[in-house]
Amino acid sequence: MAWHKLLPRPRWLPRAALIYPQRVVVVGFGLAMLLMLVVAMRDLYLLRERVLILHQHDLVLRALGAEAVINAERFKLSFVRDYAQQLLELQQGTKASTDGDIERAYAARNEPVWELQVPLGDAPIVGVSPQILKGLQGFERRDEDLRADLLAARQLSHVLGVSQRSDRPDGTVTFISSNGFYVTYPALPPDRAPALIKRFSGIDYYRSLLPDRDPSHEMRWAQVYTQFESTQLRTTLSVPVYVAQRFRGVVAVDLEIRRLRDLIGLPEILGSHRYLLDRNGNVIVSSQTGGKTNLRWPDDFAGDLRNTPVSDLISQGTGMRHVNGQYVYFQRVGNAGNWLMVDTLDEYDVYATVARRLSLPLLTIWFLLPVLMYVTLRVVTLLFDHYLAAGRKLQQMAETDPLTQLANRRRFSEQFKKETARRQRDGTPLAMLMLDIDYFKRVNDKWGHASGDCVLMAMADLMRKHLREIDFPARLGGEEFAVLLPGASSDEAVAAAERLRLAVEAAFVEAAPDAPQPDTGDGRIRFTVSIGVAEAGTDGCQTLDAMLAVADRRLYVAKEAGRNRVCATDAPVGSAAVPSMQRQGNS
Ligand code: GH3
Ligand code: MG
Ligand code: MG
Repeated sequence: MAWHKLLPRPRWLPRAALIYPQRVVVVGFGLAMLLMLVVAMRDLYLLRERVLILHQHDLVLRALGAEAVINAERFKLSFVRDYAQQLLELQQGTKASTDGDIERAYAARNEPVWELQVPLGDAPIVGVSPQILKGLQGFERRDEDLRADLLAARQLSHVLGVSQRSDRPDGTVTFISSNGFYVTYPALPPDRAPALIKRFSGIDYYRSLLPDRDPSHEMRWAQVYTQFESTQLRTTLSVPVYVAQRFRGVVAVDLEIRRLRDLIGLPEILGSHRYLLDRNGNVIVSSQTGGKTNLRWPDDFAGDLRNTPVSDLISQGTGMRHVNGQYVYFQRVGNAGNWLMVDTLDEYDVYATVARRLSLPLLTIWFLLPVLMYVTLRVVTLLFDHYLAAGRKLQQMAETDPLTQLANRRRFSEQFKKETARRQRDGTPLAMLMLDIDYFKRVNDKWGHASGDCVLMAMADLMRKHLREIDFPARLGGEEFAVLLPGASSDEAVAAAERLRLAVEAAFVEAAPDAPQPDTGDGRIRFTVSIGVAEAGTDGCQTLDAMLAVADRRLYVAKEAGRNRVCATDAPVGSAAVPSMQRQGNS
């Protein structure tokens, strides 16, 4: 009988769970892992959204910060430009009321480098000779205006000095007069003046402020190495100064790139970059230090945005473009809409950031689940095997006679049911033998109980040896045995019983060690057996009890006839065997 049928099974428990417990464990863990995977995917999605939203918030905040600072610089620039323009206008045409300092500077105006003395703390005023100015676009020495210009410059110098002294010293403010001198704060060593003016006149953005290039007198933003420190990249905001339709110079405010970079900040998502672009797509500053310089939108950015001009994004104000796995977040800087802050990041960076923020315990549990599953599987398998083996052992013990290791009456009855079913199905005959050892009491009496047991064991061995493989011997109790002979008719059963009887007759058993030693004989126990035969379906043999009764009756007939014989009928039998043989060993 299959072990899982032995005990009743709870209704809710599928039969498969009892037969294949390992599969239950695997399916259970599989479901748990799937569930966790779904949860993790959902978390991943939500986290990704959150990372992107936070990223955009950061961009917007940084843009506002940059806007505030840049607006302040613009304001400073406009103020200085308006003030310079006003001062120059005031001096225009009037007979300049000069003093010693102005006259000394005027007298030195043809020196390579000359200086107008200003009070301590004011922005220094430094000029160069007309020779140096020669050929420099936008510069032209006009002696008739120089005194007035210097007077205006001295007032400007005071304002620049005062306004800048208390301020952060990072933004340099310069007024460069087309008359060949400049006012700058913080101060520059005067010997650098010719180089500064030459360089200034040569750089693009200065030239773009010249009347023919900038008829609207617009403010310009450019990135330039000022102060001739080629290592000190600055970004410069500048505007031309006009008086009575005449170009009179340039006011410039510049910021260190480092400061601007601090302003735009560093995107939190590793691998993403932030840029501040001007309207023409020039990169004013990038969050990458030591990265590529002179980048330009859109060529150096997302290839798929090649046809999107910065002005389009600026007019949109804020937003995100997602093309080919690359995100471009943008945010306009300043109401004037001249700059755009842009973040580029690709999908991979986003997921890398998300993965870094994924809950570590969740990941750990997920990776531990297979290990846990393996351990559970091992334990379940071990426990199942253990209890299965124990169950089988118990079952075997419950169905086996401990002395002879033959099947007991209960097992015999089970087997009878099976064989009967087969007989009815296949129509093959089924016979039964009933055996009883002759004069067994005498064996016990003469050789002792232990030797009697040896005889019983020998009897079992003889049955196993001299019957067919498919025959089913059992010990019904005491020294009574029974055998089921599937497929055997009564005659065949008689023949088999006769063979067995002869084998028993010929066999002997050594007495147990504690047996009393007999005076005569060789010390060997000889014994015989009487056998009754019944065939299922004949003589009313329908049930086990009926068949046992018939076989037992015929056994009794055999005993009555003198023992050591086989009987297959209810009629008394003649002397089929040699009755004297049985007494040889037992008496
Ligand atoms: P008969 O030829 O008429 O069968 O004579 P018998 O002496 O064999 O008589 P019976 O079958 O009535 O005797 C059965 C005896 O078997 C009685 C009991 O002492 C003995 N016996 C029963 N079970 C065991 C056992 O497990 N071991 C031993 N040694 N003896 C047993
Ligand atoms: Mg008996
Ligand atoms: Mg007997």
